[in-house]
Amino acid sequence: MFHITNEEDIKKGRSTDIYFERTKKILKSKGQNPVVKAEIILKGFPCGYSWGILAGVEETIKLLSGAGSISVRCMPEGLVFKDFEPVMVIEGRYLDFGVYETAILGFLCQASGIATKAARCKIAAGDKLIYNFGARRMHPAIGPMIERSAYIGGADGISTGPGAKITGQPPVGTIPHALVLIMGGTVEAIQAFHEIIEPKIKRIALIDTFSDEKFEAIRVAESLGRSLYGVRLDTPSSRRGDFKKILEEVRWELDIRGYSGVRLIVSGGLDEEEISGLKGIADAFGVGTAISGAQVLDLSLDIVEIEGRKIAKRGKRSGAKKVLRCEKCLQDLVVLEGEKAGDHKCSQCGGRYESIFVEALKNGEVLYDFPDASVIRSKVMSQFGHLEL
Ligand SMILES: [Zn+2]
Repeated sequence: MFHITNEEDIKKGRSTDIYFERTKKILKSKGQNPVVKAEIILKGFPCGYSWGILAGVEETIKLLSGAGSISVRCMPEGLVFKDFEPVMVIEGRYLDFGVYETAILGFLCQASGIATKAARCKIAAGDKLIYNFGARRMHPAIGPMIERSAYIGGADGISTGPGAKITGQPPVGTIPHALVLIMGGTVEAIQAFHEIIEPKIKRIALIDTFSDEKFEAIRVAESLGRSLYGVRLDTPSSRRGDFKKILEEVRWELDIRGYSGVRLIVSGGLDEEEISGLKGIADAFGVGTAISGAQVLDLSLDIVEIEGRKIAKRGKRSGAKKVLRCEKCLQDLVVLEGEKAGDHKCSQCGGRYESIFVEALKNGEVLYDFPDASVIRSKVMSQFGHLEL
């Protein structure tokens, strides 16, 4: 069968790195099972980033809710975080959750990497739309996680059925080259689409299969008239240098013929940098590998207290902490978890701090409210005004 593990194995801790299993065996035989507090923290962002969007919290809480008397305090999914800020503190007997470290970090590191990249692309696009079309670049078994993370990070649409189910959004798509080739032409393909596919689905013609984009754009616009929502230009990186010029030319030719309502949708190896350069002329972007195959964020999990004693490995600050955030300027302060937000004033604007941690699990009981993906996405986007690329 396929090369995947199943939920049961993950829940039973069988997908763990072997050294945690061996640690469990040793601690059990030595009668050691202390109450510990462990925090999840990022020491450095990849690619010169200075912030991340936290994702993967829902799966983490669901995993830990079946793991004995565990308590979890964390940033809610969708919050911006910086390096050296704990995003989650797990408290409980070590043997109850130690073997889950591999799975927990896997959930958080990959989902956060994708949400962060989607947010960067959306910030770059401004009021233009971003669609995640990268399902085909990743293993389909984790497709729903990828599309959910892309959507909550700020993508305006996703493209597969399972992704639609988990985000509650209708899947978005245009026309593949296969349909154009089999139907024998760009106009034939969009006309067949118009005839067969229900009217509420947007008519977006792919115009780079056979001939010049400009002439194809004019032909599909003349053939479909007002029913044409947009044209998609899927351009290989070899033509990237001329791409803006091609788009401007297509726009010009459509406009002078009265088709200024026809949108330009761009796809093909895009990232936030290219989106920035094209947002003045393109109306929407189909982003592939840049989002679905985003660089993971290397969060790590470290013990910071054992039986109430503050202790940590070298390079890590001991003691369980929480993050206070200025409600005005989003400046953060990391303090010991017993401290009160009211004891501090924002050093940047003098504003009030509030604790951004929520109690997600208390002695095994789930308190986290698992917001809908659209609610998390709105929260993510409300922070964009404070973020720079
Ligand atoms: Zn402030």
